[in-house]
Amino acid sequence: MSASILIINSGSSSLKFGLFAADSGDSLCRGIIDWAGETGHAELRLTGSSLAEFKQPVAVRTHGEAVDVALRAMVETSPLNAAPASQIIAVGHRVVHGGTLFIKSVLIDERVRTAIAELAALAPLHNPPALAAIAAAEAALPGVPQVAVFDTAFFSSLPPKAFVYPLPYEWFTDWGVRRFGFHGISHAYCAQRAAEILDRPLRDLRLVICHLGNGCSASAVSGGQAVATTMGFTPLDGLMMGTRSGSLDPGILLDVQQRRGLTAETLKHVLNHESGLLGVSGVASDVRQLESAAQAGHARASLALEMFADRVRSSIGALAVTLGSVDALVFTAGVGENSSGVRAAICEGLECLGLRLDHDRNSSVRPDADIASQDSVSRILVIESREDLMVARETSRILRLPSHDFGDCDNF
Ligand code: ADP
Repeated sequence: MSASILIINSGSSSLKFGLFAADSGDSLCRGIIDWAGETGHAELRLTGSSLAEFKQPVAVRTHGEAVDVALRAMVETSPLNAAPASQIIAVGHRVVHGGTLFIKSVLIDERVRTAIAELAALAPLHNPPALAAIAAAEAALPGVPQVAVFDTAFFSSLPPKAFVYPLPYEWFTDWGVRRFGFHGISHAYCAQRAAEILDRPLRDLRLVICHLGNGCSASAVSGGQAVATTMGFTPLDGLMMGTRSGSLDPGILLDVQQRRGLTAETLKHVLNHESGLLGVSGVASDVRQLESAAQAGHARASLALEMFADRVRSSIGALAVTLGSVDALVFTAGVGENSSGVRAAICEGLECLGLRLDHDRNSSVRPDADIASQDSVSRILVIESREDLMVARETSRILRLPSHDFGDCDNF
């Protein structure tokens, strides 16, 4: 059984995990444990290259418990092509917030752990779960090196004009209020993958990348470096999302506090959980449900989808202008990979940027693929989001494992 790299992605009440062969970088298995609340009822799902999807109810209340359950599941299913825990020689974690301190992936030690804990104030739902998973992995796999890969790191290349807000400058210097950008692991992966698909050096490419999942963000990437992004100081900024508002007139927030008596705590909840596609449609945050509702004549579902596409299209325009030209537009994540309707709506009018969709290719695409028409000046790519692979590559690179050259990570 070959040595493997375990990767862990700790969400607010979920743990995604996977094993990669340390020599080749091949994916051996991937899984997810989802839980909500204090009930302890959770579901484990596991798939592997020679393993049909395996589902099992599990008792999990914390990220620490989830790591133990995940490791046990992989050991127990190891005859079906996952590697046993004893063979894990490295662990890689996705960590949401690296602030300005972590502009590259790092080997985790006490100092790194303390810094991630201090950054929890900026990412209260995400950094603490990552720390809990790091502690659990260390307890279960003593002495195995662990690497942190940060979602903010890819955007450390933003120039000041892109990360300073038009607020009193002291808010930036004294309070650290600035754009960080998120989803960076996904954007970095897509940039590298786009270069592979186009068979051109990344340093020559100008890309606009749209990560459209429950959370949504778009970025402009020039020569492998991020130069602009829509997410900001928090992941609430930018595009309209499943339940998050995205960018707003800040005057609205002042008005509802002053005249409607909404507290900061209520606003935080509404902007994060009751806005976006869900807030406008009143139906769902899930694009599949909205598309069905819209087809059945639900006017607010149609409006929500139109607004979503309109806002993504406007951002693509702005990012393209920042770049000067676009070699490829990339769609990734749940909505970007799966909804041909949303992609078609977004691409309407993008011919002015040299981006012309092939409607047949768009409706039958299986990522990774090019869905631009033959005569399109620039390409339109659909790329499967592989944050897990990117974390494995980074872990391998930082630890100089045999597979460290299985990806071109120089820009990350
Ligand atoms: P997250 O941001 O949580 O990682 P994902 O990238 O998995 O989310 O995206 C989840 C979203 O993808 C769902 O809410 C749903 O709107 C959308 N989605 C998934 N499959 C489809 C599909 N077949 N058609 C349209 N939308 C889809």
